[in-house]
Amino acid sequence: MDEFHIKLGDEILKCTGDASPLGGVLEYGTQQDWTILPSVDMRATPSGTVNDEVLKRWWKEFQSRWEPNCDAVFLVLHGAMVCESTLDVEGELLQRIRNLPNGANKPIFGVYDLHANFSTSMALHANCLVAYQENPHTDARKSALRAAKLLMRHFNTGQTPSIQLRQLPLIWPPTNTGTAEEPMFLLEKRARELEKEDEHIWAINITAGFAFADTPDTGVSLQVIGTKDATAIFEELETLALSSGKIGALPEPDIESVIPSLREPVDGLTVLVEPSDNIGGGAPGDGTECLRALVTHHIENSAICLNDPEAVQMLANCEKGDTLTLWLGGKGSQLDPGPLKLEVEFVSRSNGRFELENKQSHLASMCGNQFDMGPCAVVRHKNISILLTSNKTAPFDLGQWRSQGIDPETLNVIVVKAAIAHRAAYDPITARSFTVNTSGTCNSDLKRLPYKNLRTNLL
Ligand SMILES: [Zn+2]
Repeated sequence: MDEFHIKLGDEILKCTGDASPLGGVLEYGTQQDWTILPSVDMRATPSGTVNDEVLKRWWKEFQSRWEPNCDAVFLVLHGAMVCESTLDVEGELLQRIRNLPNGANKPIFGVYDLHANFSTSMALHANCLVAYQENPHTDARKSALRAAKLLMRHFNTGQTPSIQLRQLPLIWPPTNTGTAEEPMFLLEKRARELEKEDEHIWAINITAGFAFADTPDTGVSLQVIGTKDATAIFEELETLALSSGKIGALPEPDIESVIPSLREPVDGLTVLVEPSDNIGGGAPGDGTECLRALVTHHIENSAICLNDPEAVQMLANCEKGDTLTLWLGGKGSQLDPGPLKLEVEFVSRSNGRFELENKQSHLASMCGNQFDMGPCAVVRHKNISILLTSNKTAPFDLGQWRSQGIDPETLNVIVVKAAIAHRAAYDPITARSFTVNTSGTCNSDLKRLPYKNLRTNLL
């Protein structure tokens, strides 16, 4: 519960117009003269199974503000949350809304992240949920506007769409879900064409799924929203998805095998992408394998960020230039080799708050205009800069570094704990990148994971 930011009632209206999907729908609704009855907003940086207490709290707040005579419900969802008592949180909540007074026929619209594991219950109990169409999610706000406009279409026409769902026998690691590449690129392209061909089709979602949630709904799915049968669309898109299902990211080399390449001179920044410690995927963001490699191989003018509140505290009384020995990172996962003992020089500290440089960034979809990394410190070991944060900070915005006095463009090598979503920020300043395999929790080799609940037909 401590990790959730909670906004209640009118407090939610303060987000109107900000860079988040919530900000987008509030702005649109205000322009359309909707009377908005703000209810509850709860969000956290991705992590493991959520305590039931969180689900109970959301429901208590939502239920207490329920207005049986409202015209519609609009939800800003993610779609891959798992709680102790249910593997399908969104489906459970939608079902409960249906059971509220006058809830049964209430139009339920909304927006969600394409990494949702879309369930039968979600399809059954909502009327129109639209997915982001881009990964990195540069279109989160735009997608919320799309959903809000479809709600307006319902108000204007009196038509109420429904959601048809087809779950595909496919599961992709996050590294295979970028929309600039196959298989997502072609699926998205074709979905947009099909959407235009028939006025009875309101929206088509290509939902890539989230492989690190172990549920019967985990995997790739399609949703068609509209007022006519979607079988033909499902058949075509399923065939397309299955034919490209074997295409995917190449096996990731381990960090040691890319070290010789790091030594080759290159004009500009080299990005070491570490999907196994993907913060946006729920990993701790404190894995030490890449830092160990930078230290061992003396990779000059390099930088890495670790989420390590304990280390930040140890530096609380340091002054610039002080040196001390710290145990860095390796505290968040049993799969990591563990904390790395390192002599470091203290450089700076801050409160860790920064304004997003890119208001369309993936981070904006999560937090709006500003992000709070918690108390931060920058330390240096030889020529390696280490940014230590107190809140996990997905590496989706360069403001994270520049606000701490480090310009990534001047570095030789930077470690990025992400799969795809960092690209919007980093690609423009990247000369080359290597995706490396480490022992973190979000490993792209799904066969290594001890699933218990998956559907049996997944390829
Ligand atoms: Zn996502």
